[in-house]
Amino acid sequence: ATPTALLVGTGRGAQLGVLIRGPEALESTRRVDTVLLDKTGTVTTGRMTLLAVTPAEGEQRDEVLRLAAALESGSEHPVARAVVAGAAEIGVLPPVTDFANVAGLGVTGTVDGREVLLGRARLLRERDLVVPEEVARAATDAEAAGRTAVLVGWDGRARGVLAVADQVKPTSPEAVRRLRALGLKPVLLTGDNATVARAVAAEVGVDEVIAEVLPTEKVEVVARLQGEGRVVAMVGDGVNDAAALARADLGLAMGTGTDVAIEASDLTLVRDDLLAAVDAIRLARSTLGTIK
Ligand code: ADP
Ligand code: MG
Repeated sequence: ATPTALLVGTGRGAQLGVLIRGPEALESTRRVDTVLLDKTGTVTTGRMTLLAVTPAEGEQRDEVLRLAAALESGSEHPVARAVVAGAAEIGVLPPVTDFANVAGLGVTGTVDGREVLLGRARLLRERDLVVPEEVARAATDAEAAGRTAVLVGWDGRARGVLAVADQVKPTSPEAVRRLRALGLKPVLLTGDNATVARAVAAEVGVDEVIAEVLPTEKVEVVARLQGEGRVVAMVGDGVNDAAALARADLGLAMGTGTDVAIEASDLTLVRDDLLAAVDAIRLARSTLGTIK
């Protein structure tokens, strides 16, 4: 490798809005054949909005929202921000004690003397809460419409469902087309529900989806694909992506992402869209072309 060529690549990278951690990061890039795309905050904007609150039979909508928003005040998750913003009308929220984040599943805590659980249905079921049929149905309906369903429960039962919507970044479909044109296979990787994931994948033109993956499992997905002989690039933004970004042959972090994601990656994309990832992969290939 000639240092000059690498410097050119770095300078061009800066022009394109790609920060390169170290030239050695680009060694395997030419052979990349698979690109894992995190969903929330990478393919989508990650700026979610609360669209609907459906209480269980016998519950009050405002009470479900009040407890949910109180609990989410302690979380930085995009879903949490949407729930808190969507509860602005409620005014001052009650304090939360014993707050705990359950990675990839939701949050728990004590509000108004109740032990409240909030997140994926799996979280509530794992903690032995009953999910009444109308609640399960509201969740399924929301997911069929491409929304993330957030269940809220206390005292042994799910008490309501919040439907939260994200938006695909306008450039994501074009970026996916360009990845394919480069001969790369895009794969959507997410902790979100499979139905929601498939809806987003269809919208951007990705046909392979790996969904309902816990944060600790994302890195295992990378390792499994590598074990099958694939050379894997991963694009992500979250704390939950960091290990996978580090393990990938080429890790690309969204510049708007969390510090841990950026630190774990080989490349950081200054522009907040997936087209920057395509440029980065192309740049890395052409830089190597000059060297070898
Ligand atoms: P992604 O891989 O899409 O970035 P995460 O691993 O962060 O997703 O979360 C997976 C799922 O867990 C979310 O789609 C959501 O259903 C649930 N979840 C996680 N944290 C929270 C939270 N604070 N509030 C509500 N739901 C949450
Ligand atoms: Mg994300």
